[in-house]
Amino acid sequence: MLRRVFYARKLYNNNMSLSIKELIVEADRCVACGLCLPHCPTYRKTGSEADSPRGRIQLMRAVAQDILPNNARFNEHIDLCLSCRNCEAACPNSVNYGALVDTTRALFVQKKSLLFALAKPFIRHRFLAKAITWPIWFLQKFKLNGLLNAIHPAVKLLPVIEKPASWKSFYPATSNKVGAVSLFLGCATSALDSQTLNASIFILNQLGFDVHVPASQTCCGSMARQAGDADESSKLVAQNQTSFDQTMPILTVASGCGAGLHDYLPTHKIQDISAFLVSCDWTNAPLKPLKEHIFVQDPCTLRNVQKSHSAVYALLKKIPDAEIIALAGNGQCCGGAGAYMLTQSEMANNLLNDKISAIKTNNVAILATSNIGCSLHIANGLRAQNLTVSVLHPIQIIATQMGYAR
Ligand code: SF4
Ligand code: SF4
Repeated sequence: MLRRVFYARKLYNNNMSLSIKELIVEADRCVACGLCLPHCPTYRKTGSEADSPRGRIQLMRAVAQDILPNNARFNEHIDLCLSCRNCEAACPNSVNYGALVDTTRALFVQKKSLLFALAKPFIRHRFLAKAITWPIWFLQKFKLNGLLNAIHPAVKLLPVIEKPASWKSFYPATSNKVGAVSLFLGCATSALDSQTLNASIFILNQLGFDVHVPASQTCCGSMARQAGDADESSKLVAQNQTSFDQTMPILTVASGCGAGLHDYLPTHKIQDISAFLVSCDWTNAPLKPLKEHIFVQDPCTLRNVQKSHSAVYALLKKIPDAEIIALAGNGQCCGGAGAYMLTQSEMANNLLNDKISAIKTNNVAILATSNIGCSLHIANGLRAQNLTVSVLHPIQIIATQMGYAR
C-alpha cells in the first residue's frame, strides 16, 4: 500500500492525477444512483454491473483499499472500459470518472503489452512513425496486399495513406494577418492523415492566421495513459509543455489528442480546430455550395471532454446548400477508442456494427468525423461490408469548398 502511495505521488502532479487517497475520496462521491448506466456502452452490451461505471467505481475503490485483490478479473473489467466518459457527462454528482480510470490504470493495470512496447518509440518520435509509413504507402500504392498483411494484422485497419509528409515550423498568413496559432500534429494524425493537417494550415492562412508547427512537439500521451504507462505519458506531456508557446492557442484536429491535452496540459489554451474556426471572420473566405447531405459522427472525446461537438455542425453549416445531419446513435462510442479497437476487438466490433447499421439505414454518402481513431475504425467497418462512404474530417470538407486542392 505504501509503495502504491509513493508511486502515485511520484508520477502524478497535474490536474487529472489522483493519489490513492484522492482516488478513494473521488470514488466515495459516487452515490450509486445508477443514472450513468444507460449511457455506458459496455454495460448496454454486457448487462453486467461490473462493466458499468457504477460497478467499476466500486471495484476501483475496493482494490485501492485492498478490500478486493487486483486480479485478472478486475483488470478485465477496467480494460473493457472505453474511457468514452459518457458516464461522466451523465453524472449528476460530477464524479470525475476520467481521473479515476486513468489513475486506476496507472496504479493497478499497467500493461506489459508487447504491442505497446513496440509501438512506444513510433508514438514518441514522428520521424520513426514516418519511416514506417513509407513502406506501407509503397505497398498500398502498388497493391501488394499479401505483403501488407504480413507486416501486422493491424495494418489492414489503415486507410489508403498519403505519401508521408513533413511540416515546416512556420506558415505565414496569406491574407491580412489577424492572429497566430500553433498546430498540434499528433502521432497517428501526422502519420496517417496529413491531408487534414495540410487542409488546416491552408484554411488558417487564408483566414489571416500565422500557423506555428513546433518541431519538438510529440504525442499527447493518451495511448500511453490508456496502457497504464503513466511514466511515459508524463514524459510526453512535459515535452509538449516546453514545445508550445503559452501565449497562443494550440489547435488540435484529432479530438482524442485534444482531450488528452485538455486534461493534462492545463497551462496551455487547447482548442479543437472546428471550435476555433467557427468563431473566425469568414467575410473574405466564401465557401462554394455543396448540395449534399453531410452526416456527422460525434467522437466521445469531442462530446464528453472538449464539449465542442456542436462547433462541427455550426462550421459545416457555413457551406451553402449542404444539409448537416447528426448520425443516429451519436451518444454511443463507435468502439475505436485509441488502441481499444486492437486490444478489445470483440467489443469494438460489436459497437462498430451499431454505427454501420446507422450509416446503412440512412444511406450515408459523406460522414464527417473529427477523430482519427473513429475515422479508421468506421472506415474499416465500411470496407468490410463493401460500403462506399466518404469518411472525412470536417476540415477537409471545408477546405475543399474554399478551393483547396491537395
Ligand atoms: S451517475 Fe454518478 S453518482 Fe450516479 S452511479 Fe453513476 S457515477 Fe455514481
Ligand atoms: S468511460 Fe464509457 S465505457 Fe467506461 S464506464 Fe464510462 S460510459 Fe462506460
